[in-house]
Amino acid sequence: MKILVVDDQNTTRKIVTSILEDLGHEVVPVDSGEAAWERFQRERFRMVLTDWVMPGMSGVEFIQKVRKSENHQHRAYIILLTGREERGDLIEGLNAGADDYITKPFHIDELSVRVRAGTRIVELQKKLEELAVTDPLTGLTNRRGMKASVQERLQIPSEKPVGFILADIDHFKHVNDNYGHGAGGIVLESVARRLRDSFRTTDTVSRVGGEEFLVVAVDVNPVQMYRLTNRVRQNLGAERYVLADGQQIGITCSFGVTYAMPGPELNMDDCIARADRALYESKFNGRNRVTVHHPGMDATD
Ligand code: GH3
Ligand code: MG
Ligand code: MG
Repeated sequence: MKILVVDDQNTTRKIVTSILEDLGHEVVPVDSGEAAWERFQRERFRMVLTDWVMPGMSGVEFIQKVRKSENHQHRAYIILLTGREERGDLIEGLNAGADDYITKPFHIDELSVRVRAGTRIVELQKKLEELAVTDPLTGLTNRRGMKASVQERLQIPSEKPVGFILADIDHFKHVNDNYGHGAGGIVLESVARRLRDSFRTTDTVSRVGGEEFLVVAVDVNPVQMYRLTNRVRQNLGAERYVLADGQQIGITCSFGVTYAMPGPELNMDDCIARADRALYESKFNGRNRVTVHHPGMDATD
């Protein structure tokens, strides 16, 4: 793990750095609270070891700044290094937002053990963050994860449009009603896999609803995107889905497609809403088809 080490004393910084490196971590050492805060804003470290008393910004002030700037998702695990005389003030340090503390002078073993405990917590947090953006049935990213992963990239201007492809399984309720919920699960997993395999790895395929999927495809040519989507539609319709009892069933899917130019003006929710209107049109016109809505085409655009 990449760890930020903050201490104004050269020797302490060096000792801590070498212990952490021996544990297999990558260390970024800085010598002041100001430098730490500057560095932290550029790069969100998941673990920080900071001295308390330093000229200028203290470790506690630095921690307070970090905590104020954090959202709940990416919380840094912060260990405060304190000299003996500050022991009585520990409550203050922990109240400021430190997760743990080590009193100086410290033993190598103690530092190692506490860093290891912190690492476990960070790993667990990362796992939870991942679960929060993953659909457990298909392994695809969910709506939240999709937004988090594409939102920033879509704000960067590009010559080529970004495509929004919304897919919804037709009469999926019938699959559940006729073959059971387990059958529905098998179909969802297969559709998810085929969608994943049909688009480029740079495209984001997500499950955004019960039987609804969204593909955000970068650098597209709208005509090619339409053709590819239509081919995917045909493949999904031709596939035999093998149920647990060996029975084979077929399904069809309807698609709504749109595109937009990436840049600061791009509003992802508007694009998804436009794809949704195109999808509705596919359903209305008999399902198992692809409908494209061009930018500015809908009355509400
Ligand atoms: P339409 O062609 O208009 O899309 O009809 P539909 O039946 O597919 O759509 P509707 O929205 O009426 O029903 C969606 C169904 O999808 C209802 C629900 O039971 C099923 N579904 C949603 N999520 C899951 C899931 O995780 N597993 C299973 N097995 N079924 C699901
Ligand atoms: Mg449906
Ligand atoms: Mg639906």
